[in-house]
Amino acid sequence: MIQSIEQLCDFVDLSPDDLAIDFDSIFPFKVPKHFAEQIEKGNPNDPLLKQILPGLAERDVYPGFSPDPVGDLAANPQPSLIHKYHGRALLIASPRCDIHCRYCFRRHFPYEQAKKQHWQAALENIAQDHSISEVILSGGDPMTLSENSLVELIDGIEAIPHVSTLRIHSRTPIVAPHKAHRPTLLKTLSKSRLQTVLVVHCNHANELTPESAELMQQFRQSNVFLLNQTVLLKDINDSANTLSALSKKLFSQGILPYYCHLLDKVSGSGHFDIQKHQAWAIFEQLRQTLPGYLVPRFVEEIAGEPYKTLLIDPNSQDIKPTA
Ligand code: SF4
Repeated sequence: MIQSIEQLCDFVDLSPDDLAIDFDSIFPFKVPKHFAEQIEKGNPNDPLLKQILPGLAERDVYPGFSPDPVGDLAANPQPSLIHKYHGRALLIASPRCDIHCRYCFRRHFPYEQAKKQHWQAALENIAQDHSISEVILSGGDPMTLSENSLVELIDGIEAIPHVSTLRIHSRTPIVAPHKAHRPTLLKTLSKSRLQTVLVVHCNHANELTPESAELMQQFRQSNVFLLNQTVLLKDINDSANTLSALSKKLFSQGILPYYCHLLDKVSGSGHFDIQKHQAWAIFEQLRQTLPGYLVPRFVEEIAGEPYKTLLIDPNSQDIKPTA
């Protein structure tokens, strides 16, 4: 880990005085060394640096931005469990992440509820609801759990007969691939009756490295299906060229682009937002230049909706389809 903002600035050859940093942010700075090593030295506009540096711009207040923009708390029937969509339940498996992304939609989530002691009740809730066939491990980041705890949790899910799919949402394989290398976990997944999907979170091609490629190969060899989700971020990846390069590099590592999320309007992140017509223009360019399987679904999450909503042409009057 890089221990402080000052250490990061030193590491990337930049002066804190030139970066409009908020040293007092309530959402603390955190970045692993592997991610910092991919930042271009001396470049204050590096797209990876902008994702992690607490900026004074986070203090700006924007209309429509709130602490819980996607309605997690309204769909939180008991500690650690979020049940929003039919057939799927999400377990907040860990209160921690290996990196703090400044745009994070859960930056204000009450993570004190994400405790191992709540797992049993959450699993009992899932066991009683036969409509649930897929369990999603999220967080925080489930890869911050110890390997033993993670395997114990997966064993508990596997013991529920009507659950057939395990989905793991994690940014750790991208930002700290060495930490996500878990031999016992891989063995567990390769032998599991559950179909497993690992949805990594990567926003820019520069985040993908030989180390992430090697790790992805290990997951694939363990029968894990690999998808990626991206957040569309102003001045970081808001161009068709940048997202096209990302899709191609993901595919070279065996990962298919899944979602490109329009920014969840969480307080403190307004400076990352782009207009829907700009997002639509990027999507159109991607469709014209990439094969369909490399074009992610552009979606937004609207609190209370029973599914994520596909972006449509802002000039069209069509009813929003399911993502
Ligand atoms: S890894 Fe995911 S949950 Fe953690 S800070 Fe980043 S966006 Fe938020």
